[in-house]
Amino acid sequence: MSAYDIQHHIYDVVVVGAGGAGLRATLGMAEQGLKTACVTKVFPTRSHTVAAQGGIAASLSNMGPDHWQWHMYDTVKGSDWLGDTDAMEYLAREAPKAVYELEHYGVPFSRTEKGKIYQRPFGGHTTEFGEGPPVQRTCAAADRTGHAILHTLYGQSLKHDAQFFVEYFATDLIMAEDGTCQGVLAWKLDDGTLHAFSAKMVVLATGGYGRAYFSATSAHTCTGDGNGMIARQGLPLQDMEFVQFHPTGIYGSGCLITEGARGEGGYLTNSEGERFMERYAPTYKDLASRDVVSRCMTIEIREGRGVGPNKDHIYLHLNHLPPEVLAERLPGITESAEIFAGVDLTKEPIPVLPTVHYNMGGIPTNYWGEVLNPTEDNPDAIAPGLMAVGEAGCASVHGANRLGSNSLIDLVVFGRAAAIKAGTVVDPTEANPELNQASLDAAIARFDRFRHADGNVSTADLRDEMQKTMQSDAAVFRTDKTLAEGVVKMMNVAEKMDDIKVTDRSMVWNSDLMETLELDNLMPNAMATIVGAEARKESRGAHASEDHPNRDDENWRKHSLAYVDGPQVTLRYRPVHLDPLTTSDEGGIDLKKIAPKARVY
Ligand SMILES: Cc1cc2nc3c(=O)[nH]c(=O)nc-3n(C[C@H](O)[C@H](O)[C@H](O)COP(=O)(O)OP(=O)(O)OC[C@H]3O[C@@H](n4cnc5c(N)ncnc54)[C@H](O)[C@@H]3O)c2cc1C
Repeated sequence: MSAYDIQHHIYDVVVVGAGGAGLRATLGMAEQGLKTACVTKVFPTRSHTVAAQGGIAASLSNMGPDHWQWHMYDTVKGSDWLGDTDAMEYLAREAPKAVYELEHYGVPFSRTEKGKIYQRPFGGHTTEFGEGPPVQRTCAAADRTGHAILHTLYGQSLKHDAQFFVEYFATDLIMAEDGTCQGVLAWKLDDGTLHAFSAKMVVLATGGYGRAYFSATSAHTCTGDGNGMIARQGLPLQDMEFVQFHPTGIYGSGCLITEGARGEGGYLTNSEGERFMERYAPTYKDLASRDVVSRCMTIEIREGRGVGPNKDHIYLHLNHLPPEVLAERLPGITESAEIFAGVDLTKEPIPVLPTVHYNMGGIPTNYWGEVLNPTEDNPDAIAPGLMAVGEAGCASVHGANRLGSNSLIDLVVFGRAAAIKAGTVVDPTEANPELNQASLDAAIARFDRFRHADGNVSTADLRDEMQKTMQSDAAVFRTDKTLAEGVVKMMNVAEKMDDIKVTDRSMVWNSDLMETLELDNLMPNAMATIVGAEARKESRGAHASEDHPNRDDENWRKHSLAYVDGPQVTLRYRPVHLDPLTTSDEGGIDLKKIAPKARVY
């Protein structure tokens, strides 16, 4: 591969991604004296985490009684009993610690009158193991929580001498022959150079793949790149059929209106002016969990009670709230509603529609962030040298459905856990092994192939076809028929990657090539999602099948593993972890409390 001059870098740890998860991992690694590089395709504070509005869940009990076990219960129930019990316990237990750490790092949380961290109610978060009233558990910095966290973590990472490689696009993993991950190949976008990073540990923190769909609240950069890299190495993606639709994307643009808006007292109405959530979820109403609210909105629209000239959306009301509350607690939302819907929040309702928001599935890991490569004998076998955290990873704490404000806490709890684990398995005194030239050459060859791709289909056209197919056939409502048709359509779409056309052959700021590489990453995400959904003959969390309306724990309480090769997907399954970290004698949760039952709100 003499056509490219490769620049080499040697680190203990390379983190790919500088969102909340990547930065928390980077900071934790650097703090321990590991030589750490963070490679990111966008400037760290432009990662999608910056857009997180509502907040971060932790049972601090600042606004009333709360307990980590209640948080764990809500997470188990939210996951529709698909999450791994050990990981969910770890999340709920470590959450308060992780939030106080953020506070000490300098995150400017909103405060109560007594000066404590302000916490708001959020959907699915309750007291007394779901028996009590909603809890105020979601810690917030107004409606800019992600923004505040990202800026703070970036500053702290710099303080600890982590090295940032900004606007470097990681294209592929470099693997030793025995399957150990040895590093990544990255393309420096502003000068066109290629860089091989050698590392004893590679951490994928590349975020979600919302852009596999047409309407998504996530940034255009959320293209599941890490998941794509994993799929290309023959490693599995887990539980990809579970895609969360947020009830309140602004109609048209998809821009998010935080659940915090309903937490502060907002409510939904249909064309008859009815507060319909009272009918579906008598107890928690507009604060039922997201999949439930999204489905109810979709039913209202399908049954002809949508609002607007085409009766195809729903109204979210905040106009009954005092203007001071809106100005203080939801300033960003006030602005978004004006810009993206032309609505004055204090006077009119906002037109909203369920919009793709979060990917529960991703790269399977244990609760230390170590990537799993399950074998016949060991469903928890590890892929050495590789970790995944944040939305790219699947620990799995969100199971079939994530609760609001449980992602930001997942980023920092598992970013931190990955750093703790790396501290025990990475030896900074050891020399890095030499990179496997064959693997590096394969990565360069793939890059070169796309750069010179001269087929008949433009990247923009193919992306559009993929997004529209996913939107129509793998959305909120799913039937055997639409999914089966969708799989065939998506296979045709994925096959066209071989006929892609890139028009710009240059190496510097070649957005055509970058978008093509992103599309090639989105494609296996989309395939795994729709094939996994077609196979799962039950309804669980975000996966609601009209033909199989009930949850089937006997046959389907298991994680899907999708091995993707172009348009072909092979599915396997692995058991859900049912054991907690600690027994009730050791202060852990009473397992009877989290035994599966119907999920009603
Ligand atoms: C609008 C919106 C609001 C939300 N609000 C909340 C909320 O209030 N509470 C909550 O808990 N959750 C919320 N979520 C979910 C949560 O914000 C995300 O799940 C989370 O921020 C994802 O963080 P991350 O660190 O995994 O990835 P991201 O923040 O998406 O960062 C991904 C990083 O990976 C890098 N990257 C990707 N591909 C490559 C590549 N090929 N090469 C190099 N670098 C790469 C990017 O540069 C970026 O730095 C919200 C999500 C959205 C979209």
